[in-house]
Amino acid sequence: MTREAMEYDVVIVGGGPAGLAAAIRLKQLAAQASREVSVCILEKGSEIGAHILSGAVMDPRALTELLPDWKEKGAPLDYRLLDPYPGEPNGLALMRRAAHPHAAILFIDWMLSDEGQTVLAQQVPRLTLRKGVKQIPRHQELYKKDFVFVNPASIGPNLNELIASYQQIFNVR
Ligand SMILES: Cc1cc2nc3c(=O)[nH]c(=O)nc-3n(C[C@H](O)[C@H](O)[C@H](O)COP(=O)(O)OP(=O)(O)OC[C@H]3O[C@@H](n4cnc5c(N)ncnc54)[C@H](O)[C@@H]3O)c2cc1C
Repeated sequence: MTREAMEYDVVIVGGGPAGLAAAIRLKQLAAQASREVSVCILEKGSEIGAHILSGAVMDPRALTELLPDWKEKGAPLDYRLLDPYPGEPNGLALMRRAAHPHAAILFIDWMLSDEGQTVLAQQVPRLTLRKGVKQIPRHQELYKKDFVFVNPASIGPNLNELIASYQQIFNVR
């Protein structure tokens, strides 16, 4: 008896979020390197997604890192922007007595430059407050709304109020 065989460069077992993300990322890296990589996903369910139990509430951060333009590509997800929306500031810190302070200063200078902020806005992608830097289209909407910086110190005293607003907005208890 002869068995049919198919060859692939990479075989991923399991078509859940982890397997699918791995396959997409491999193909992205191959495309960036102008290489052909054949990837096969083996899924024991009758189709992709057949074994997913998830309630489908998701934090889209990982998806955004993988496919920044998921919204434009028509992913079946939607969101509602709050006004004002909560923002988490990102800081850059230079260590006291750093071994190579000038290298650190060069890096900070690059991070704050047009080029550095463009990488942050397009590839991470994060909202940058630097004017003139092109954002992904979804982030442009955020400029039209107000934001408040949140951190544990600001959430703590307002926790009950925030929980009440969340329950009211999403109609949950
Ligand atoms: C009841 C429930 C509700 C949930 N709700 C949410 C939610 O609302 N939001 C959220 O973010 N997360 C939720 N989760 C968590 C989320 O589902 C998991 O974090 C996520 O599915 C993990 O992805 P994964 O790819 O690692 O594994 P899985 O999604 O489990 O994928 C593994 C895949 O591998 C396949 N497989 C396994 N063994 C083999 C084999 N030998 N050969 C071929 N295929 C194989 C399985 O069929 C499966 O499709 C929920 C989980 C449960 C259990």
